[in-house]
Amino acid sequence: MASAFSVQEASARILSGIRALPVETIRLRDALGRVLAEDVLSPIEHPPWDNSSMDGYAVRAADVAAAGADRPVVLPVLETIAAGRRPTVRVDPGTASRIMTGAPIPDGADSVIRVEDTDGGESRVEIRDARDAGRNIRPRGEDLQIGALAVARGEVLGPAQIGVLASVGAGAIVVHRRPRVAVLSSGDELVDVDQFDLVRRGDRIVSSNSYTLVASARELGADVVDLGIVPDDPDEYTARIKSVLECDLLITSGGVSVGAFDFTKDVLKSLGAELHLWRVRMRPGAPLGFGMLGSMPWLGLPGNPVSALVTFELFGRPLIRTLRGERSVFRRTIDVRAREAISLAAPLTHFMRAIVDWESGGAWARLTGPQGSGLLTSMAHANALLVVPPDRMKVAAGETLKALLLGERSIASPSLDV
Ligand code: AMP
Ligand code: MG
Repeated sequence: MASAFSVQEASARILSGIRALPVETIRLRDALGRVLAEDVLSPIEHPPWDNSSMDGYAVRAADVAAAGADRPVVLPVLETIAAGRRPTVRVDPGTASRIMTGAPIPDGADSVIRVEDTDGGESRVEIRDARDAGRNIRPRGEDLQIGALAVARGEVLGPAQIGVLASVGAGAIVVHRRPRVAVLSSGDELVDVDQFDLVRRGDRIVSSNSYTLVASARELGADVVDLGIVPDDPDEYTARIKSVLECDLLITSGGVSVGAFDFTKDVLKSLGAELHLWRVRMRPGAPLGFGMLGSMPWLGLPGNPVSALVTFELFGRPLIRTLRGERSVFRRTIDVRAREAISLAAPLTHFMRAIVDWESGGAWARLTGPQGSGLLTSMAHANALLVVPPDRMKVAAGETLKALLLGERSIASPSLDV
């Protein structure tokens, strides 16, 4: 148990016993952000009929092939087909039907001439251009054939996936249950923001981890049980944990180091937890606990605010995403070039708070500033974690490293660069 693991080893150890949560059926309306647990196949051809992609006139290509501005083709109009109506007559040679976007193509027609290329007539139409001959028909089943995979299991449901599910009639869907995640912070020095007068007096600090970790879990769609702050007292700690044994994950912060009041590990052990991990060769975040308390995984994050968030990113996020049933659970890394030289004091994997930006095609990373593990503003400014492996304690400016992108922040742009 004393041995320290590499980041990769720790990740593998943590995730090895974690399985997707059981499934439930929900209404499609409530599906945003949930993870589909079963493949959904299309029971229909979609679109269900050949339909027009233009407002215009359904015709036969042969009839309009010679049309031009100076020699318009004039055809009688048989009917007007609105979207939501069916055609009633066939388009025979030398005739046309007025048709709206999305309306079914009448038998006999093989083209839709856009209305802009006509005089817009209702009983007869003058066609002034042949460019749409043979065009503007969206064939039945173009998007989905019967039995085609509409949305795959393991997909996180965003607007487009939900729209596809709606199109194929999946009004109720089978998804993984939302993880119930208990979050507990410990430390005698901590108070909640409503006791900020104690902070002003210089007696206490706010438990920012209670906020960052609850927000991190919620961002992943977890149902959070916020256990608040527990003082450095093993009995209170034990009682608080006993109240959440039904959860799918317990995340604690603080008390996992080697200080005189760091007894998180002892409490967990006394409750019968199996400890799988105690230290990771990384900075920030070296003290990191993981174990199983019965069937509930426990992730013991360090108390330092940056360490807590960085270790959540590396280990907590993939864990919750695995519980959610997601297929890809890790953040993406990209190659970036360091804007500045970096010199490190220990052969550990370092996760440095950085700002990645793109310049003439390449990605560059600069550090947010001082990298102390208590400097939470460094995390607030960062859009990426710059990864410096243990064998590269000296990095020159311009060298290539990996950066782990921190979500939407890392790809948002102040301008529309299209
Ligand atoms: P610990 O891991 O308990 O030894 O705490 C390490 C450092 O993180 C100490 O400076 C603590 O005051 C600080 N810390 C611990 N828990 C929190 C928390 N919930 N919010 C903010 N800082 C914390
Ligand atoms: Mg502490």
